[in-house]
Amino acid sequence: MTYTQWFTNHSHKHKTILNTINLKSKNEIIDYFTYENMRDSHNDFCLLYESNTKCHDMQDLNCYMCGCPYFRFDDKGVETIDDKIVYSICTKGLGSTFESEVSIHHDCSSCEVSHHKKFINDNFDIDWKEMMTMVSLNFD
Ligand code: SF4
Repeated sequence: MTYTQWFTNHSHKHKTILNTINLKSKNEIIDYFTYENMRDSHNDFCLLYESNTKCHDMQDLNCYMCGCPYFRFDDKGVETIDDKIVYSICTKGLGSTFESEVSIHHDCSSCEVSHHKKFINDNFDIDWKEMMTMVSLNFD
């Protein structure tokens, strides 16, 4: 799956849930997206729910803002470093990378920023794509 495919699919799933839950307040909506509730109520929202595992080892994991507004990707490559194509980066310089002989992808597994309720509350939008408006660098 390309980044663009994931981005489009995830946006659609997010919007579908919001259209069905009929919650109005920001707090209610964010609380609805706690890991435990989403795992039990929307098992297809994340591949990890089925195995009851988390992307980050944290107690109050919230799934509303999966991925992260600081992530940037381009399926054709953001830049080239030492003959390797960089497909994704973090604008905050956090996390690490997955590297092969030909590619570099950003690895957010050590960073919990976008899963904390306060961060989500501070950066909330009812439309997931609006929160992620800078993330895709694919322009065609
Ligand atoms: S490393 Fe953290 S801040 Fe950077 S893109 Fe990933 S989740 Fe966001």
